[in-house]
Amino acid sequence: MDGRALAQRIRATVAEEVRTLGGIGLATVLVGDDPASDIYIRLKQKAASEAGIRAEDVRLARDTSEEDLLAKVEELNADDAYDGFLVQLPLPDHLDEERVVRAIEPAKDVDGLHPLNTGELFLGRPRLVGATPIGIIALLHEYRIELDGANAVVIGRSDIVGKPVSHLLLQANCTVTTCHSHTRDLASHTLEADILVAAAGRAALVTPDMVKARSVVIDVGMNRTDAGVVGDVDPGAVEVAAYMTPVPGGVGPMTIACLLQNTVRCARYRRGELAYPHA
Ligand code: NAP
Repeated sequence: MDGRALAQRIRATVAEEVRTLGGIGLATVLVGDDPASDIYIRLKQKAASEAGIRAEDVRLARDTSEEDLLAKVEELNADDAYDGFLVQLPLPDHLDEERVVRAIEPAKDVDGLHPLNTGELFLGRPRLVGATPIGIIALLHEYRIELDGANAVVIGRSDIVGKPVSHLLLQANCTVTTCHSHTRDLASHTLEADILVAAAGRAALVTPDMVKARSVVIDVGMNRTDAGVVGDVDPGAVEVAAYMTPVPGGVGPMTIACLLQNTVRCARYRRGELAYPHA
């Protein structure tokens, strides 16, 4: 499944929408200098700029206090130049992620992590949902994968991937099993999966013998190894599955493209073209 090709098309559509809207703005906030986070931020900034989005790259020192970070969040909440923004996670240990995420204006929350957005998703009314889960569903639609009634198995229950993608698959009428580090006999679950989403962050956790024949495998994992970045699924599984996403070139590019899509959505909320239901 070619995530790059679909991502490219989405980015072209976003660029068109940005022109129609007369320009929109996205801010990213990075606290500290974690190398992986730095790469993600650069990719997001570059993609936003290429789509004609006004992109602000806010960098704060690793020892930034929680009060100062919250003050920055409040500033971005109020700043009309930015339709949406994100605070890159993980934050340094001395900062309370939950408190910071809760401070973000829900209608500007391009990562869909504010409890109001996660709550709406839980209730079956998705508003702003994280870019990775949205990108996964977009790939499944692109390849016309039948979701209704399918057995979907998600490995991982994080707030940014596992839980939201499980909810989106449930809403698409899949029968969903969410596995995690306490799951007994992981293979007994994965072998039942018509759709398998691997988001554990463990290189080659899923071996070919764990994959159901003719199934669809979405590999979210991005694990840094001596051999470069590899997924959670052994690439040999492509021989068993009907469809599989490569790493890199699958979910990664879709995440970036869908972040831009979410920024457009935020711009539509702010312009009143879409109604954002506040509690
Ligand atoms: P995370 O917060 O570390 O969560 C990992 C999840 O996997 C946890 O729920 C954990 O279970 C579960 N898990 C770990 N080992 C397992 C095992 N042996 N068997 C079954 N479940 C296991 O990670 P994340 O943020 O969701 O990210 C997951 C992976 O996706 C990472 O490699 C990350 O780099 C990648 N990622 C890629 C993109 C992209 O755009 N391509 C975006 C986001 C993340 P417990 O809950 O029990 O601990």
